Amino acid sequence: CRAFSASAGAAVWLAAGGPMRTARAAAPFALPKLPYAENALHPAISARTVGFHHGKHHRAYVDNLNKLVAGTEYAEMPLEKIVLATAGQPERAAVFNNAAQAWNHEFYWCSLKPKGGGAPPASLRARLEADFGGVEACLQELAKAAGSQFGSGWAWLVQDGGKLRVVKTANADVPLTQGLKPLLTVDVWEHAYYLDYQNRRADHVKAVLDDLLNWDFALENLG
Ligand code: MN
Repeated sequence: CRAFSASAGAAVWLAAGGPMRTARAAAPFALPKLPYAENALHPAISARTVGFHHGKHHRAYVDNLNKLVAGTEYAEMPLEKIVLATAGQPERAAVFNNAAQAWNHEFYWCSLKPKGGGAPPASLRARLEADFGGVEACLQELAKAAGSQFGSGWAWLVQDGGKLRVVKTANADVPLTQGLKPLLTVDVWEHAYYLDYQNRRADHVKAVLDDLLNWDFALENLG
């Protein structure tokens, strides 16, 4: 995954082009390719789960978004701009939900990698020690956020000004709309783990944090 830009702040980040690595900056959006093989996250996440999650769920958000924005003011906007332009507007909820989920999932696949987890790069470790008291404390906060999100949502490591912190969001919500810069995310919608773990969300989250977390991606995103 390419870095999501090194500038702090969503506005600067978006002006720099944001994260999209798809062929076009505006609709119709393409389903981004996975940055690894479907079976590369096994055994923490099975190939079957990745296949459904990417090929069915992620694809549906992209396809729905393309249908919803066709012929509208959003048709020529980059994905991030659609997310920001529709956030907090009940009458735009369908566009927001599908745009945000398209954005969140592309960011999610980049937040994981085969043989991930373990020790972060030294410069990131120093930031985690300064802001959380250590890598383990940061992981505990991520696990707590992922476990305590009631229903569907996401746990995030974000940059809030000069400080790193953990937040959780519900459903399609994304920290970008709160002026926070995402560094990493964990999907806690049931579709992310139910085939492999059924109701054991905590076991899934532990496997993701221990075995798959892409610290290099977080460091690339860090401004
Ligand atoms: Mn998902």
